Amino acid sequence: MFNIVMFGPPGSGKGTQSKHIAIKYKLAHLSTGDVLRAECESGSDLGKQISALIDNGNFVPDDMIQRMVKKFILSNTGTKGFILDGFPRTINQIEWLDNMLAEIGEEVSVFLSLDVEEEELKNRILKRGNYSQREDDQNVDIIKTRIGVYHDKTKPVIDYYRNQNKYFEIDGGSSQQDVFNEACVVLDEIKKSRK
Ligand code: AMP
Repeated sequence: MFNIVMFGPPGSGKGTQSKHIAIKYKLAHLSTGDVLRAECESGSDLGKQISALIDNGNFVPDDMIQRMVKKFILSNTGTKGFILDGFPRTINQIEWLDNMLAEIGEEVSVFLSLDVEEEELKNRILKRGNYSQREDDQNVDIIKTRIGVYHDKTKPVIDYYRNQNKYFEIDGGSSQQDVFNEACVVLDEIKKSRK
């Protein structure tokens, strides 16, 4: 299987790029944020608890996310591969993912990271907030919290994959099409070297 982790700060375009990459490479796609937001919209008690965390820019507990990821991966074994968008976001989540994949004889093939300047991130998120209805996209303080959480908890994930020679960074600051083209160049190269 060809298994991608799509990585980047909030507003870097992970979601959009993951969707296009999933279509082109015929991969199963999981956006942890989308699944969580769907639960919030359902109005369930769990959804309300999740909403209170997401809307303030905080993380949802690991056990909940890990259950979701495990279910997704186990229901997609035997496919061409998967793309994870929004997971792993902490060192703990990475270690769990690696162990879980090892149990089924799989691994992360590539860790693709989108690099975007901080000012551009804030502008993009606020712009998205105009139509996304996401509370966490509409408040400057919460956006700052999310970017802060990214620096504190998520960025250290980079070194883990860099040490495994799986880390590839692309410029996420250009147009969607240019970012996609650049991502495809990297992914095609990696696929070729695996043959
Ligand atoms: P996203 O759509 O990826 O920006 O995710 C939106 C929100 O969902 C995040 O700010 C977190 O509150 C929550 N979330 C998504 N993925 C994770 C994860 N892997 N671990 C913890 N919380 C997550």
